[in-house]
Amino acid sequence: MALIEIFSRRETKILVFIAIVACGIAAVKSFFSLDLLLESPLLKAMVLQTLRFFLSLTFTAGPQDFDSDLPATGAYDFIVVGAGAAGCVVASRLSETSARVLLLEEGKSATLESAIPRLAFIQPVSDNVRWIKSFSRENTLLGVKNQTIPMIVPRVMGGGTTVNLALYVRGAKLDYDNWSALGNPGWDHASLLPYFRKSEDFIGTITEHTDEYHGKGGPLTVDTTDDVRKMEEIIRPVAAELGLDIIDPNGPSNIGLAPVHNTVKKGVRASSSEAFLKPVFNRKNLHILPGARVDKILFNQENEAVGVEYTFRGKTYKVEARKEVIISAGTLHTPKLLMLSGIGPRKQIEELGIPVVAEVPGVGQNLDSHQLFALNFKIKPGLSPTFMDLMNPFHIASYLREQTGFYSLPITPLMHTYLNLGGGDPHRPDVDIFMTPMVGVGLPVYTNEIKSQLFGPLLNEPVLNVGVMLCRPKSKGYVAITSADPADFPFINHNFYDHPDDVKLHVKGVKELNRIMSSEGMRKILAPQPDLTLKACAHLGNKTDGYWECYARHMALPNEHFCCTAKMAPPTDPMGVVSPRLSVRGVSGLRVVDASVMPEVVSTNTMATVYVIAEKASDIIKQDWSLENTKTASK
Ligand SMILES: Cc1cc2nc3c(=O)[nH]c(=O)nc-3n(C[C@H](O)[C@H](O)[C@H](O)COP(=O)(O)OP(=O)(O)OC[C@H]3O[C@@H](n4cnc5c(N)ncnc54)[C@H](O)[C@@H]3O)c2cc1C
Repeated sequence: MALIEIFSRRETKILVFIAIVACGIAAVKSFFSLDLLLESPLLKAMVLQTLRFFLSLTFTAGPQDFDSDLPATGAYDFIVVGAGAAGCVVASRLSETSARVLLLEEGKSATLESAIPRLAFIQPVSDNVRWIKSFSRENTLLGVKNQTIPMIVPRVMGGGTTVNLALYVRGAKLDYDNWSALGNPGWDHASLLPYFRKSEDFIGTITEHTDEYHGKGGPLTVDTTDDVRKMEEIIRPVAAELGLDIIDPNGPSNIGLAPVHNTVKKGVRASSSEAFLKPVFNRKNLHILPGARVDKILFNQENEAVGVEYTFRGKTYKVEARKEVIISAGTLHTPKLLMLSGIGPRKQIEELGIPVVAEVPGVGQNLDSHQLFALNFKIKPGLSPTFMDLMNPFHIASYLREQTGFYSLPITPLMHTYLNLGGGDPHRPDVDIFMTPMVGVGLPVYTNEIKSQLFGPLLNEPVLNVGVMLCRPKSKGYVAITSADPADFPFINHNFYDHPDDVKLHVKGVKELNRIMSSEGMRKILAPQPDLTLKACAHLGNKTDGYWECYARHMALPNEHFCCTAKMAPPTDPMGVVSPRLSVRGVSGLRVVDASVMPEVVSTNTMATVYVIAEKASDIIKQDWSLENTKTASK
C-alpha cells in the first residue's frame, strides 16, 4: 500500500521519467557498442531489466502475457509449431471453427518495451531474439568481422513481428504471378489479394486507384506516420525531377517512390500475437503455450504425423494431433525441425543417426533473402531524430500517457524506391533504394577499420542512411543441421554473389543511388559531405564500377527477410518440399506454413507476404477438413 502511494506521487513519477531517460541513454550507448552488450550478459540484463522495471510502473499498453505454468498433454485436432507471423494467424483462424488447436512457441510472451515502436532498435539485443552465426562465400563479407554474420532470429510470441521494424509492404504483383507460373496454382496476385484485404485494417490514405487493394476491419492495423508524411514532402520534388511516380507500396503499381506503411495500432506495435491472438485469447478451443520448444514430429507406421515431442521447463512431453501438425517455425527452424524429424536430404540425416522418414532433398536448400549495403549522407539538422529527442521528457511523458508523439513512431526506413535496373519485366522491381533519416552510428558487424573509415566521420551527426537492396538475388544459400540435438543452432550459408549478375546489379544500384542523391531536390537537404572512401578499394579509382564492386564485396550483408527453405513446388520439381496446398512431401498430416514455403523471395520486406500465406493456408486447411466457422468457439 505504502509502495503504491509512493509511486503515485508526482515527484516519484518525475524521478521515474528521469530514470527512464537514463536507461534510454544507457541502452542507446550500449546499442552502439553492441559487441560489448552482447559479450556482457550482465550489462545487457541491467539495461533491459531497469528499462522494463520503470515501464512496468508507468506503461499500461504493453503486450498480452500468454505465459502459463502448465504443459499441454492429451490430444488436439491441430498442433501449430511456432507463434510467429504465420503461426499466430493459423492458430487464430483455425480456432474460429470447433477444432481444438494447440499453439506451441519456444519463446516467451513479448516484453514490455517491444510494444514501443521507437524502441525497436533495442530488440536485437533483447532476449526476444537469438543470434545465429552465418557465413557466405570467400570473396564476400570482406569488411565484416571474421567474415561471419550474426543473424537476428526471433524467439518470442509474435516471432519476427515482435522484434522487426514493423514495415508492412507487399511483394510486387508479378512476384506472386511468378509463384503461380512455377506450378503453384492459386498463389497468383489476383488470388491472394482477398487474403491481403482480409487481414488488414488500413488507416492510411486511400485513393480511387488504391481502394480495391486495402482492407478495412481486419485484425491487423496498417497505418502511415507523421515521419513518413514529412519524408514524402521532401521527396516529392525529387520524384518530379527524376520522372519517378510516388506510389502506394501496397497498391497497383510496383515501380516508383513508396512512402512506407507500418503495423502500428494507436502508437503500439501490432505484432501477430497482439493482432491475431490477443482478441481471441480466451477461446475455449485454443491453447497457447509459450516456452515450449518442439523437438520432433512423431509419425506412425504409415508416415502420418500423429503428434509432437516438445520440451517445456526442462521436461519432455508428447502431445497428439488428431488431424494435422502445422510447422510455422520460420525459415531457419522449419527445415531444422523437418530434418530432426527425419525429413530431408538422406545423407545429412543419416550421418547424424536420425532415422529417415522421407527423403526430401530440397529441405534447407534454396535459402533466399535480400542483400544490401547502406551509404550514409550527412544532412542538414532538423530532418532526422536525435539523441535529444530520445531523451526528451515530454516525448516520454506523452508516450506513456497516451501513446502519441515521438515514441509512437517506428524507427524504420520511411521511403522505398523500387526500380527496374537489370531488365526483364519493367513493372517488376529488382533494386530497392530505401531511405532512413537517423543519427550516424557504426554497425557493430563491421571491422574497426571499416567503422572508422565509413562511419567515424558521421558519428552522432544527422544522416540519411540509404540502403541499396537486391530485390531478388539469383544466388541461393542453404540451411543444414550439424547435430541431432534440438537445442543446437542450424548452420547457415548465404552463398551470396555466387551468381555473377548479383554483384553487377548491386553496382548499377549504387550508381542509381548516386544519381538520386545528386538531384536538385536532394541537394537541398544535404550538408557538405566528409570523405568516406573505403581505403581497401581506393586503388580501383574514384567511384568506378570496380570500386563499387569491391565496396559491395566488403559491405553487403544479408537482411532478415530470409525465406524459401521448404519451397512450394509441383511434383516435377525435385527440390520442392511442400505442395501448393502446403503439405510436406513423402508424409501425410504435416504442413508447413511460414516464410520457408515461398518459392522465391518477394521483391520487398517479407512480413506482409507471410501474413497472406498464413491467411490462405488457414482456408486451405479448413477446406480440406470441411471445417466451418462457428460462433460458439470464440470467447
Ligand atoms: C530484426 C528483423 C527485422 C525485420 N524487419 C521487417 C520489417 O520491418 N518488415 C517486414 O516485412 N519484415 C521484416 N522482417 C521479416 C519478418 O519479420 C519475417 O519475414 C516474418 O516474421 C517471418 O515469419 P515466420 O512466421 O516465417 O517466422 P517467425 O516470425 O520468425 O516465427 C517463427 C516462430 O517459431 C518459433 N520457433 C522456432 N522453432 C521452434 C520450435 N522448435 N518449437 C516452437 N517454436 C519454434 C520461433 O521462436 C518464432 O517465434 C524482419 C525480421 C527481423 C528478424
